[in-house]
Amino acid sequence: MEITKHFFLSLSIIIILLFFCFLFFEKNKNSPYSKSSMTLFFIILLWGCIQFAYHPLPFARYDLRIIPLVIGGLYIGIGPILTAAVILIRSLYGIDIGFYQCCLLLIPYGYTVWRLYPWFWKQPPLRRTGVSVLTCFILGLLTIIGMRINETESSFFDMIIAYLVIPSLGIGIITYSIEFFMRNAEMRQQLIKAEKLKAVEQMGAAISHEIRNPLTAASGFVQLLQDDYLPRQKRREYLAIVKEELISAEKVIQDYLTFAKPSFDEFEEINVKNELRQTINILIPLAKQYSVEIVTDFSIIGYIKGDKQKFRQCFVNILKNAIEAMPSGGYLTIITEFSQNDVTITVKDTGEGMTPEQLARLGEPFYSTKGKNGTGLGMMVVFSIIRAMNGDIQVQSEIGTGTTIQVIFPTIIPYIHSQKNRQS
Ligand code: ADP
Ligand code: MG
Repeated sequence: MEITKHFFLSLSIIIILLFFCFLFFEKNKNSPYSKSSMTLFFIILLWGCIQFAYHPLPFARYDLRIIPLVIGGLYIGIGPILTAAVILIRSLYGIDIGFYQCCLLLIPYGYTVWRLYPWFWKQPPLRRTGVSVLTCFILGLLTIIGMRINETESSFFDMIIAYLVIPSLGIGIITYSIEFFMRNAEMRQQLIKAEKLKAVEQMGAAISHEIRNPLTAASGFVQLLQDDYLPRQKRREYLAIVKEELISAEKVIQDYLTFAKPSFDEFEEINVKNELRQTINILIPLAKQYSVEIVTDFSIIGYIKGDKQKFRQCFVNILKNAIEAMPSGGYLTIITEFSQNDVTITVKDTGEGMTPEQLARLGEPFYSTKGKNGTGLGMMVVFSIIRAMNGDIQVQSEIGTGTTIQVIFPTIIPYIHSQKNRQS
C-alpha cells in the first residue's frame, strides 16, 4: 500500500504544479517566451518525477514521468524534446539495461506523438481526453512488459499501480481540467464578441440617424445648386456648406469604424484623454437621443498600458449604460485624475440608480433590467477588460440619484516622454 500513498502524493503535487503552469500560460499566452518557459517547466517536472521516484528495492524505481510526457507531447507538441530530456536525465542514473529499454520505448514514442500532435488538436475535446488516457495506458503497458522482461522480482501489483492505474487516472483528471479551462476561455471570448456585435448593431442604428441629417442638408443644397441662374457668390457658399456637411457625416462614420474595428489583444500606450474623447464622440448621437448632456473634466496627462480597442469597448459599455439610465435626460460627467501611480476615471450619471441587490449582481452574465433591449453582458465585458488591464473598478449607486463608477488603472510613463528625458 506504501506505493499508493507515495504515488497519490506525487500525483497531487503534479496536478497542483500543472494547474499553476496553465494559469501562468493562460495569462502570458501571447508572449513569445511562453512555449519555451512551458518546455522548461515540463523538463523540470520530469526531473522531479524521476528524482523523487518510489524505490522500495534498490533495483526497482517507479515514477510518474509518463504524465508530463503525455501532456507535454500531446497538448504542447514538445514530445521529442521531452523524450530527449528523459533519456538524458535517465542516463545520469546509470547506463544499464533499464536505460536501453527506456530509449527503445521513448524514441518511437517521441516521434509518434510529434506526428500525432496536429491530428490531436483537430479532435473534439472529449476524444482528446480519451486519446491522452489511451496513450498513457499503452505507454504504461509497454513499460510494464519491458520491466517484466528485465527482472521478475518486482511486485506486479506495484507495477500496475505505478504505470497503469495512477498515471491513467491522473491524465484523465488533468486533461479533463485542461479541456474545461479551454472551453471556459473560449466561451468567454465568444460572449465578448456577441456583446460587441450587439453594441455595434445598436450604435449603428443611432449613428445612421446622425449621418442622415448632414446628408439631407447636403442633398438639399445640391438641389439649390442645380439652379442655372444662381449667383456665383451664392454657389460658392452652398458648395462650402455641402462640403462641410459631407465632412461631418464622414467623421461620424470614421468614429463608428474606430469602434467596430476588430481588436488584436495588443499592449500599447493609451493616452486616456484622447481615447475617452473618441469614445465620447461615438456616443454623442445616443446621448442626444436621450437628451443627456455630457460634461468632461480631463487631467492634462495620463497614460496607461493596454489594448486601445478594448479600452474603448469598456468605456462605450459604461457610458452607454449611464446614458440608458437617464431616459428623461440628465448629466453625464466624466472626470479623469492623474496621480503618481494611478489614473482614475470617474463616470457619474444622474440616472435611475441601482438598488443594493442590483448593484451586487452587476457584471453577472445575462443580468439585465432592460428586457429585450439589454444583453446583460456589457458590465461583464467591462469587468473582464479592467481585470486584464490590471485595473480596479468601484461602483456606487443610489436609487433615484444616480450612479458613480470609478475605474483605476496603474499609470505608465509614456515611451516618447521617457526617450526625450533620456536624450536631454
Ligand atoms: P445591459 O446594459 O445589456 O442591460 P449591462 O451588463 O451593461 O447589461 O448592465 C447590467 C444592468 O446593470 C443593467 O441592465 C442595469 O440595470 C444596471 N446598470 C448598469 N449600469 C447602470 C447605471 N449607470 N445606472 C443604473 N443601472 C445600471
Ligand atoms: Mg449595457
